[in-house]
Amino acid sequence: MNNFDYVKTTTAQEAVAKKEEAHNSFYVAGGTNLIDLWKYDIEHPEALVDISDFNVYKTIEDLGADGVRLGALVSNADTAHHPLIKERYPLLSNTILAGASAQIRNSATNGGNLLQRTRCYYFYDKVSPCNKRVPGSGCPAKEGMNRLHAILGHSEHCIATFPSDMCVALAALEAKVEVTGPKGDRTIAFEDFHTLPGDTPDIENTLGKNELITAIVLPPEGYADNYSYLKLRDRNSYAFALVSVATGMKLNAGKIEKIRIALGGVAHIPWRNKEVENFLQGKSPTPENFKQAAEMMVEGAVGFEHNSFKIEATKRALVRNCIMALDPSTQRPGAKPSL
Ligand SMILES: Cc1cc2nc3c(=O)[nH]c(=O)nc-3n(C[C@H](O)[C@H](O)[C@H](O)COP(=O)(O)OP(=O)(O)OC[C@H]3O[C@@H](n4cnc5c(N)ncnc54)[C@H](O)[C@@H]3O)c2cc1C
Ligand code: SF4
Repeated sequence: MNNFDYVKTTTAQEAVAKKEEAHNSFYVAGGTNLIDLWKYDIEHPEALVDISDFNVYKTIEDLGADGVRLGALVSNADTAHHPLIKERYPLLSNTILAGASAQIRNSATNGGNLLQRTRCYYFYDKVSPCNKRVPGSGCPAKEGMNRLHAILGHSEHCIATFPSDMCVALAALEAKVEVTGPKGDRTIAFEDFHTLPGDTPDIENTLGKNELITAIVLPPEGYADNYSYLKLRDRNSYAFALVSVATGMKLNAGKIEKIRIALGGVAHIPWRNKEVENFLQGKSPTPENFKQAAEMMVEGAVGFEHNSFKIEATKRALVRNCIMALDPSTQRPGAKPSL
């Protein structure tokens, strides 16, 4: 066990200041990912800045016509079961409940969910090289076990996927992330938050050094009438997505007025393609149109030895999920809580 400093802070300003003091310091919220990484000897905190007692970021605030603000420290479980979220953002509630287990969702926080690390086996295996863990050391996943890995947006340096379910809904909902840090407060559009691996897979998001996530703002449009989340996985519980799809749709006079589709399990980021959404807007919500959209969605996708099935799986999941969004009561089984 290495020595480390531990400080429990009560305000964002104090937390940011304390985090700046140590070289390799971490905020800790629910700890469900950070402590695992530490146990696997992947992270070596010199200081832990405990933010879990900040009551000010433990609320879910109705902003009326401006949407809803989710505190960064509200647990995933409290978010998913909150009446406002169930009523106005059922897509978000479903994605959260399709992830992890009830126990983990009780500890995991909204801010921490955005920053969880990939589940690539080689990243967790200290004896393997890994460009994300040790830049420049290589990527054994390309020729190795790559069943979980990316088919879209990967680079020669990294083919890992981002594992969050919740973030797939946040991408479809076009949420915003509020942060504070040494240079003050700012807001990051969700689509700009996570980054593709390129030649720096160790950089996973646009959060600045020592910045703290304080809240996630959901816009007023929650797609409460037509939405669906479908998660394909190896087990029905306690497993990360091989492919997942979140769809929010607004219908008007039998046509698609607005649609947002985001994919999980297929890229280093929650994956959206605006061309696909634009193609569907104004069209009838028919299986034929969804099939064309699905073909567009996987254009340019490249699979590896064990994950090429994801290309066809993504197409089928997208079509099925869009059809289920027409009648959300037909959602199964990804929409059922993962136990
Ligand atoms: C067995 C298991 C199964 C899982 N299955 C799934 C699944 O199916 N789907 C899914 O989506 N997730 C799954 N998860 C992941 C889980 O959702 C995440 O571990 C959790 O959301 C992380 O939140 P946390 O509050 O515990 O973060 P922590 O572990 O506390 O922190 C994670 C990272 O974020 C940083 N951080 C935390 N909060 C903030 C903040 N407010 N501002 C800035 N930095 C911050 C920490 O410094 C750390 O680097 C699983 C986890 C486990 C252990
Ligand atoms: S896919 Fe990314 S995380 Fe996995 S071994 Fe390659 S570089 Fe590391």
